Amino acid sequence: MTGASLNAARRAAELEALAADELVDLVVVGGGITGAGVALDAASRGLSVALLERRDLAHGTSRWSSKLVHGGLRYLEHREFGLAWESARERALLMRTIAPHLVRPLPFVTPLDRGMPASKAAKTQIGLRIGDGLRIGARTPRRVLPPARRISALEARRLAPALAEAGLRGALLSWDGQLEDDARLVVAVARTAAAHGARILTYAGVTGVRDDGVDAVDALTGAAFSVRARRVILATGVWAGELSPSVELRPSRGSHLLVPAGRLGDPRAAVNVPVPGERGRWVFALPRTDGLVAIGLTDVAADGPVPEVPCPSAEEEATLLEHASAALEVCLGPEDVAGRYAGLRPLLAGDHAATADLSRRHAVVEEAATGALTVVGGKLTTYRAMAQDAVDRITERSCRTHRLPLVGAAGAAAGASPTGRGAPRAGASGAGAAPPRLVRRFGAEAAAVAELGSTEPLAPAVPMCEAELRWAAAHELALTPEDLADRRTRAGLVPEWREAVLAAAHGTMPGSSSDPSPPATSTTSTS
Ligand SMILES: Cc1cc2nc3c(=O)[nH]c(=O)nc-3n(C[C@H](O)[C@H](O)[C@H](O)COP(=O)(O)OP(=O)(O)OC[C@H]3O[C@@H](n4cnc5c(N)ncnc54)[C@H](O)[C@@H]3O)c2cc1C
Repeated sequence: MTGASLNAARRAAELEALAADELVDLVVVGGGITGAGVALDAASRGLSVALLERRDLAHGTSRWSSKLVHGGLRYLEHREFGLAWESARERALLMRTIAPHLVRPLPFVTPLDRGMPASKAAKTQIGLRIGDGLRIGARTPRRVLPPARRISALEARRLAPALAEAGLRGALLSWDGQLEDDARLVVAVARTAAAHGARILTYAGVTGVRDDGVDAVDALTGAAFSVRARRVILATGVWAGELSPSVELRPSRGSHLLVPAGRLGDPRAAVNVPVPGERGRWVFALPRTDGLVAIGLTDVAADGPVPEVPCPSAEEEATLLEHASAALEVCLGPEDVAGRYAGLRPLLAGDHAATADLSRRHAVVEEAATGALTVVGGKLTTYRAMAQDAVDRITERSCRTHRLPLVGAAGAAAGASPTGRGAPRAGASGAGAAPPRLVRRFGAEAAAVAELGSTEPLAPAVPMCEAELRWAAAHELALTPEDLADRRTRAGLVPEWREAVLAAAHGTMPGSSSDPSPPATSTTSTS
């Protein structure tokens, strides 16, 4: 077992040691990107760390994002320059050092058409120029993210063939980072933390926070246990209010639809169109590497109880189809939707009426009664900075994560280039002769993944393969078939893919037939 390998046997041994009164420097609660980032930051500074997640890694908001590692352009519209700078700096670190195998440059086309009057086009161009200044300031070379420029209507339609031709005067072309998969980033951060000695325990729900640790329940056995810790950091996202009484959130739901890329002429660039009458709101169509285009994004207040798995409303779905179709030659309807998902943003409550106006800043808050810290808000892009802020509050040791590549990143650092679509190519260090899907998702570990089983797609229209299922169970802490389908492979985004992976999972998970099942959860929002 290598230090970065996480699996059922390691979980059982580490859980036993912790429950037997071992004292750790830090317990982290929550296994989304924030908690995984905190665990990595603290473990790499030499602290002993245990992370407890009540379900699976990336079970919460962290798997429902737009999968962009962005330079913070939208914050410029809200005059949040500090936030935009932080995003641009963290994007540079992710694309160049931390996870170049998982983040690739994505071109964005903003059509100059009837929906984009000259005044708005001029403002957008100024914003793109400032964004470019931030890119240069953050030392992201133009070979990684080229500068924005104006392009002709012809070039725009070459990049995005479904763009409506009528009234198209040209377009603005800009670049940002796109993640292969948000859940894979979480798993890579958690495994890198494990390589630095962090104990990563999933299906371990925290039921209470004390001044000397936490009380928890093993969801696989129902057994209650306690972990003794010098400090506790809570990273429970939209569930923060359950354990952190002083944190007030105003969650907002963001929804995406997944449409076959062929329906939009197999675009090579994302299309970005302003929502009429709303400042700073855009609808985009993002081409993904799995043959789908993600159309998003809504921003709807989601007050009331927090669901385990949010779903887009019929109204959001209709609005997204309508706004996207307005800029396209194609009129998209419900029959074009291959999958759908929604996530809740853990936004800090403010005094604005609309959630779209609430800041995407993060906060670190201390509970007076227990001394526990809660870190909440922010973005996937800025998880490292959030983790650094939180861990700086409990130790004077220096942060190292800005120069720490994640597992799979070795040899990929030079790989991010607009022409090469970012990820290391087959043959790059460690990638061997693995198929492109594995190289994109596992970087330098791709060849090792390929050795574990068949790399052929599970079925003609199902891109996942047996080797990645075996790897996830052996090294990535996939404990249930749903972990494989919904978090490790993302088959859960399309119902047919999910069925095929669940069927294959039973043959690939060691001892799966005799393993006790964790509580059943509805883990996909596709229908
Ligand atoms: C629709 C949408 C699109 C987005 N797009 C982007 C984007 O493109 N780029 C970007 O940078 N950001 C994006 N974001 C923001 C980003 O996704 C979130 O800020 C981030 O994922 C939040 O991560 P988190 O770890 O704080 O929360 P979560 O991922 O929700 O993790 C919290 C975890 O805590 C666990 N937990 C809760 N209670 C307990 C307990 N008692 N015991 C143990 N575990 C517990 C949960 O199970 C969960 O796994 C988007 C957000 C949304 C909603």
